[in-house]
Amino acid sequence: HQVKAVGNGLAFFDAEMQLQASRRLLLAHELREAISNDQFELYFQPQLVHPGVVTGAEALLRWRHPTRGILGPYEFIDFAEESGLILLIGELVLRKACQQLALWQRQAGTSRLELSVNISARQFQQPDFTALVIEILQQSGVDATSLKLELTESMLVDNFEQVVAKMQQLRALGIRFALDDFGTGYSSLVYLKRLPLYQLKIDRGFVDELVQDDNQQAIVRTIIMLGQTLGLEVLAEGVETEAQLKSLLQLGCYHYQGYYFARPLPHSEFEHFLRQHHAGLGY
Ligand code: C2E
Ligand code: MG
Ligand code: MG
Ligand code: MG
Repeated sequence: HQVKAVGNGLAFFDAEMQLQASRRLLLAHELREAISNDQFELYFQPQLVHPGVVTGAEALLRWRHPTRGILGPYEFIDFAEESGLILLIGELVLRKACQQLALWQRQAGTSRLELSVNISARQFQQPDFTALVIEILQQSGVDATSLKLELTESMLVDNFEQVVAKMQQLRALGIRFALDDFGTGYSSLVYLKRLPLYQLKIDRGFVDELVQDDNQQAIVRTIIMLGQTLGLEVLAEGVETEAQLKSLLQLGCYHYQGYYFARPLPHSEFEHFLRQHHAGLGY
């Protein structure tokens, strides 16, 4: 927002802007407190492959707010990004994710469980991002091949060459990349082909109307074919019904996550889910 200057040189806000400004100040203060008081937690939403085997989870950030209860990322992530606090938060997300993954892998005696972590544009653009990831992997003892990083199309637009170079560095270490919310951005096919991607995640907006809407179905079919052409795994997010799952399977998409299987779960509930669905991994 712009601060308008009036005749006498004093800046003024209208009431609405003033309210917003004080909300932002409070949020900035509370987010700093949340970081230092360890109020951030990860929830884990199972990711499955047909016919219902859990391959791992997507880590999703939650804030255990002292008075407002558990808050989802939509309540604070944009502000965290604008204010730069996302750098601290993103780092602690990666640390927590890798610590948890190491624990699960030790318990299960296998390294086959995968964890997918959302990375913000600003975080990925940091010159020392690769070094940070390496340090966190070493510290946690997690194998790089079980870590997946989720990027979005919008963050590929600027500095494309730099993004590709950084992705290649991390890919060489064994880390895999997913393109999140695919279909909502503006990736050109030429760009897509040059990215060292492993997975396309079909945005849940398309999955949502898959059954009723032929256009949505055509889009999903196209994304799946595109993924296959590029040699990528295609995962559908936001699967909520059996009918949606059936259409996805018919269209050739065998990886999925969504409320139909499980919501994002606290770690203990994810472990319980895993015991029921993760065949052959010692749970
Ligand atoms: P996303 O990465 O696309 O994550 C999927 C979102 O869809 C999650 O919302 C998940 O709870 C929700 N979801 C999953 N299955 C279903 C379903 O069947 N139906 C419906 N309606 N929703 C479903 P959530 O947890 O609120 O996260 C929202 C967004 O916040 C994420 O979208 C991601 O962009 C961002 N985010 C979450 N955690 C992090 C993080 O650690 N770092 C960063 N930078 N961003 C994060
Ligand atoms: Mg994601
Ligand atoms: Mg998504
Ligand atoms: Mg999303």
